[in-house]
Amino acid sequence: MAGTVLVVEDDREIRELLRRYLERAGLTVHTTHSGAEAVRLLDEGGIDLVVLDLGLPDIDGLDVLAAARGTGGVPTIVLTARNAVEDRIRGLRHGADDYVTKPFSPTELVLRVQAVLHRLRGGATEPGPASYGHGRLRIDEARHEAWLAGRLLELTPTEWGLLTTMAAAPGRVFSRYELVNRVRGYEFAGYERTIDSHVKNLRRKLATDPGEVIATVLGVGYRLVLGRDR
Ligand code: CA
Repeated sequence: MAGTVLVVEDDREIRELLRRYLERAGLTVHTTHSGAEAVRLLDEGGIDLVVLDLGLPDIDGLDVLAAARGTGGVPTIVLTARNAVEDRIRGLRHGADDYVTKPFSPTELVLRVQAVLHRLRGGATEPGPASYGHGRLRIDEARHEAWLAGRLLELTPTEWGLLTTMAAAPGRVFSRYELVNRVRGYEFAGYERTIDSHVKNLRRKLATDPGEVIATVLGVGYRLVLGRDR
């Protein structure tokens, strides 16, 4: 889906990471580290959606949010620090369309961006859920829901990221390192080992007859066993 996204984020690494992922999804991306610059760009027009870090060095992120609401109601996804519940509530109260908590999965953020753009354009072409293993597993990325044998799964953000990453290429083996990078977007010290416990929890939630959904490939990593249905 085409569209122009403005990323407002003072952390250079996160900014460039978002640019890469959003461009890969076919979107045009403008970035800035400055809230004042963001307000100026919004004023110029041509922005379809804003990804906004609330903690900016120059002006309050909420002022940028207000500017986005003011200039024709440009939808905004707010980035907040982990556990900054107050920020999230303030953001939503001030008209943010969605929020994502740091550290976040860039893949998930791209999906949220696409979901908001879809919603904005009437959602006429929104794809239905993807189905795997003859309907045994269904993943609806737009609704952020996964179902196993007709049962809605309650997944943590990390588990959701693991499942959707592996489901994007059924049968392909993903190494722990790769999973950490795809799911968290950047490397955590020691996180490669803890990915095993996340996979273990995910598998427990996916445990039904007949057989497993995620297989361990010894010494390499993990893969989704179910094939994608046509
Ligand atoms: Ca910041």
